[in-house]
Amino acid sequence: MPVQISLKKQFFQQLRASTDFKTVAVLLCDFLKTVSISQNAQCLWQLVVTVSNVNSQAYPEISEFDMGRIVQSAQADSSVDYSQAFYLAQVSNSHFIIDIAPKKLLDESDKNILLDILSATSKHIKYLLTQYHADQQEIQLLKSHKIQQALFDISNLVYSEQDPAILYKRLHEIISTLVYAENIFIIRFNHLTETMQFLYHQDSVDTDIINSDVEFDKKQMAGSITLAMLRSKEPAWGRSRDLIEKFNIDYSIAIGPDSEDWVGIPMIENGNAVGGIVLQSYLPDKIYNQDDINLLTFVAEHIRQSLTRREQTEELELKVVERTAKLSQEIHERQRSEKIQSALYNITSLASQNENIAEFYPAMHEIVGQLLEAKNIYVAFIDEENKKVNFAYRVDEFDEFVDSRPLTNGLTEWVWASKAPVLLNDTQIKRLKDQHITVVRGHAPKCWLGVPLIIGGKAIGVIALQSYDSADAYSFKEQELLMFVSTHIAQALEKIENSKRIKNAYSEMETNVLKRTTELEHTNKALREQILRREDAEHKLKHDALHDQLTGLANRNQLYVRLNQSIARHQAKPTHLFAVFFIDLDRFKIINDSMGHWVGDELLKIVAERIQRCVRKPDLVARLGGDEFAVILNSIRNINEARLVAERMLLVFTEPVYIQGKELFISPSIGIAISHDRHKEPDEILRDSDIALYRSKEQGRNRYTFFDDALHQSSINTLIIEGELRRGLVRNEILPHYQAIFNLKSKKILGFEALMRWNHPERGLLMPMDFSDIAKETGLIEQIDWQIYEQVCRDLPILLGIADYISINVSPRHLGHENFANRLLSLMAEYGVAPSNLHMEVTEDALIEHPELGLKLLTQLKLAGIKISLDDFGTGYSSFSYLHKYPLDCLKIDHSFIKTLTNNPDDKTIHLVSAIHALGMSLGLEMIVEGIETDDQCECLQNIGFSNGQGYLFAMPNAIEEICSTFKLTSA
Ligand code: C2E
Ligand code: MG
Ligand code: MG
Repeated sequence: MPVQISLKKQFFQQLRASTDFKTVAVLLCDFLKTVSISQNAQCLWQLVVTVSNVNSQAYPEISEFDMGRIVQSAQADSSVDYSQAFYLAQVSNSHFIIDIAPKKLLDESDKNILLDILSATSKHIKYLLTQYHADQQEIQLLKSHKIQQALFDISNLVYSEQDPAILYKRLHEIISTLVYAENIFIIRFNHLTETMQFLYHQDSVDTDIINSDVEFDKKQMAGSITLAMLRSKEPAWGRSRDLIEKFNIDYSIAIGPDSEDWVGIPMIENGNAVGGIVLQSYLPDKIYNQDDINLLTFVAEHIRQSLTRREQTEELELKVVERTAKLSQEIHERQRSEKIQSALYNITSLASQNENIAEFYPAMHEIVGQLLEAKNIYVAFIDEENKKVNFAYRVDEFDEFVDSRPLTNGLTEWVWASKAPVLLNDTQIKRLKDQHITVVRGHAPKCWLGVPLIIGGKAIGVIALQSYDSADAYSFKEQELLMFVSTHIAQALEKIENSKRIKNAYSEMETNVLKRTTELEHTNKALREQILRREDAEHKLKHDALHDQLTGLANRNQLYVRLNQSIARHQAKPTHLFAVFFIDLDRFKIINDSMGHWVGDELLKIVAERIQRCVRKPDLVARLGGDEFAVILNSIRNINEARLVAERMLLVFTEPVYIQGKELFISPSIGIAISHDRHKEPDEILRDSDIALYRSKEQGRNRYTFFDDALHQSSINTLIIEGELRRGLVRNEILPHYQAIFNLKSKKILGFEALMRWNHPERGLLMPMDFSDIAKETGLIEQIDWQIYEQVCRDLPILLGIADYISINVSPRHLGHENFANRLLSLMAEYGVAPSNLHMEVTEDALIEHPELGLKLLTQLKLAGIKISLDDFGTGYSSFSYLHKYPLDCLKIDHSFIKTLTNNPDDKTIHLVSAIHALGMSLGLEMIVEGIETDDQCECLQNIGFSNGQGYLFAMPNAIEEICSTFKLTSA
């Protein structure tokens, strides 16, 4: 027992000195063996410690499984006093059991010893446990700090380190602080393609350097445990050979040297392996345990997260960078386009500001220079007509400025002809030059850019830039820009051109206006002159309108004006008398016809002057036409004053007139009318004076006659007769009577002369002498004649039964009408009268009044077949010239010769009539003697040689009815 006590004491001492469980366990076992409490204590008892966080490394030979088995077996052994064991376990309160299977049943003393021992052991274990736990906790804390630090470092590193080589190296270092990591590789894995990249590789045996950028495909990696591990998505751990076997990898193709321990941790993201960490140990004493695996799993996850975040961040940053780049590109673009816009605006506004093209180009150059490299620039225009290239603007570092050059095949021409931009570098230029495709002048540029200047679809020129520094000074971008700029420059140029054109047009207009103004001034001057001339002409016209051109006296118009004034004055004041002289020159026509118009005109001028001499200022002398003059004697106090003037006139006319050395005598016949209340119109007082003139002429000419009461009365009668005559015409009161024309010898009727008679309803049958003057004055004679002619046409067929023709009397007035002959012929045609059955009688008066037209008409009628007689031959001027000039057939010897004709051979008349007969005979004219009243006359005439005649001796003029009854003719 003392042994036991001393052993017990020794045990206690040793127990107290024990600092670890194993020592305690060995001590306890040794003690039990020594005291033979349990013979096979070494193998039968086990100290099982299951404390959380206790590293099982301390008892590697005891697995949980073993422990469980031991407990079960112990419980199954009925010989074991479990109450004690259980008690111990209870005491420890730390899940540890001291399982003792005693060899024999213990006696009380052994039991006590054992209990003491166990109790002491239990207490010590408890102490150790506490100690251990404390240590473990501290270790754990440290480890946890370490891991925390490592994870923090990993996280930090991933974000802070940009260089992957350094990053993974640092990761390696961090991992090395946690586990044995001499050999390590970190992989990126693409689960879809099953390709992998060795992001980091560090191996003490396998020293190959693997490029981290190389992607290894699954074929290349067929013998890789790593690939198998990644496919399994689970951590793999063990000897490499074991793992090769586990993953059914053909060993012959297995990659890498064998390792003692191989740990692979996949990095899982969204259920897929995206990478992994592999650690290997080639050393048997460097073996990984579960904790390492767990730790590495944990670390791997962190690495993955960090890397993912880094990638995301990088991606984000990349996106940000991209976006920023894009934005700055956009901003750049915007700024550029703003710059271009503003440049273009400036170019456009340049055009409106600079009408001077010389100022435009430098300004344009400056603007272009803001957009492009434009040290060398030129603007050229093509002059196709003159085959020239004209340089409007040119700035060049090397080449001199020239105004123009001939049009050849230069680059400028190329751009112009192609109407497209041309961008060339020095190589291209050289090639073109060498191949003689184009001519390059001046200093050779490194880069040449030319664009056409196009206006209205037509290339007019070129704008070109050249760089002598850089072969890539211009790109498509610059070309595009310059093209853009060129369109604006072209527009600006066009605008300038237009404004120049407008300006020119304005100045041209101004010139035109000036020219026009000058022209207008000239025209105005000419007009003024014309107006003056016209005024002169007007004045002359006015003068002419109021004056007689030949004599310069007042004309009829002025006479009328003045007469109106005088009449008005007289009307206003009846005591205010005035006289009107109507003057006609006696026999003026004879002078005029015989001596020519020039003499006639000169005579009229002298007459005018003479009449003028007889009057004074307010008096007026007028020429009414031909040889008719009128004078107004204003403000006469009595008729005598007029008389004195008239006598003075007659006196001045007594002087002979000398014209062309010939002495001429001319006398006036004057009719004078004194103003009277009854004179309301100029014509009235003129008519009175004309009537008085007529009286003067009647009374033998070269005298004056006052219009007196008797004349007044007769003029009234005239008026009455005129009215009656008009009515008589309408009522067909005027008819022809027919006087037969006989052959004096045979007394055979040759023809009839139609003589007008007025069957006046109150005054009976009126003779021509009763109304012919009035008919002639009033012009009614023409109407009367036509009525007579028509009746003659009607009666002719009747009278043709006893005669060959009817002779009609033609008033002088008819020969003043152009259509007289036609009208007469038409009338005859209307009644079917043959021209040979109609003779016509004209007087000398008619031929004197209408010499030319008379000749024409008579010739026409004569040609038509009408015989023409000259009536009353011997009473007028008996101018023999008529006999030659006019187409006469017959002379009618006026009855005034016959009146006094006797058979006495001394009778002068016989000689005269004989002379007429001889004349007529010599001219081959037929002759009819008028007014044969007696047989003597008839005999005498026959003796002279006349064979035809008419007169009361043979027949009176009779109405058709009477002739019809006499000759038993049937009237119509
Ligand atoms: P007259 O043409 O010389 O006509 C002849 C005139 O002599 C006619 O006068 C006629 O009656 C008249 N007479 C004829 N035989 C004798 C006679 O033996 N002794 C006298 N003393 N006279 C005789 P009447 O008819 O009085 O005509 C006078 C003039 O009037 C005509 O002269 C003629 O000039 C004109 N007259 C007559 N009828 C017309 C007529 O129808 N038209 C025109 N325009 N004038 C006419
Ligand atoms: Mg007659
Ligand atoms: Mg007659």
